[in-house]
Amino acid sequence: MADLVDSVLSWLNTKLPFKFVYASEYWMVDMGPHIFPVKKYRMLYEKVIALGARPEDFIKPEPVSDDDLLLVHTPDYVNRVRSGALTSLEVQALEMPFSPEVVRFFLLMTGGTIKAAEEALKTGLAFHLGGGFHHAFPDHGEGFCLFNDVAVTLEKMKRENRLNRAMIVDGDLHQGNGTAYIFSKKDYVFTFSIHQMDIYPSNKQVSSLDIGLWSGDNDEAYLGALEPYFPRLYEEYKPDLIIYIAGADPYQKDLLSGLDISPLALKKRDRLVIEQARRLKIPLVIVLGGGYARQIEETVDIHLNTIKEAIRASRKSPPPIAASLISAK
Ligand SMILES: [Zn+2]
Repeated sequence: MADLVDSVLSWLNTKLPFKFVYASEYWMVDMGPHIFPVKKYRMLYEKVIALGARPEDFIKPEPVSDDDLLLVHTPDYVNRVRSGALTSLEVQALEMPFSPEVVRFFLLMTGGTIKAAEEALKTGLAFHLGGGFHHAFPDHGEGFCLFNDVAVTLEKMKRENRLNRAMIVDGDLHQGNGTAYIFSKKDYVFTFSIHQMDIYPSNKQVSSLDIGLWSGDNDEAYLGALEPYFPRLYEEYKPDLIIYIAGADPYQKDLLSGLDISPLALKKRDRLVIEQARRLKIPLVIVLGGGYARQIEETVDIHLNTIKEAIRASRKSPPPIAASLISAK
């Protein structure tokens, strides 16, 4: 009997405490010789398998529908993306190749963040092994972002009365300009962004709270800037859902980063953002955001640390009580 109890307990301990959203198509898209490392999605997926994930731990996304895209994006933009009719200037602003394959990549990624939010509202936490395309605006894409998966997801959840208030915690190196713009006139989303000031986007938008860092800023400056706000923002704003963009690109060896931030500091960032959300029983979606280290393994390891922090925090704090969730009403 004791043996049986032990084996059940060990099974419970090794079982991953939340679902991952992932599609193998994420890394099959051909971006050509481009800095955007789609391979990281597959590499991270393999690391999650190595952590003990089973097929039932993954949710496969559907491509987002036009109806959902139109909650954020303009009909003209959606039509022109769909028909491959972006102008060369628009493709230039996107800073990546534009092809039917790339369009499908972003349709799936947007559907993936929606799936993760639906799952998080049911179970407390979901991890999208993709997503975080925070530079897309309603009428144009830029900075490797064709559609704003985060904004479309929150608009959909709001429209379906699954939440009253939401928060975006954007830890990507770059300011979440598209998301900040989209929600600047909507008071149901609190947008928080910590980013490097002296890089793209040159035209910063106004988030609910922006923390600007400068080239050369180190771990101490980074964590010192973050710590006063967590859990304070959660306690004051009381969101029904948090989307955390756990960008790996603030890393000191990232090709796009001027910050001097170590993987350990990024891990501490993750712990702060995730653990406090769990402790307060606020449903949490984690998406990857950027990461462009010369050694792709380093980007993948930083993302893997975020997954490990999420597992750790989930085991430490029980899931939210389903009855407290709006989705259950
Ligand atoms: Zn970035």
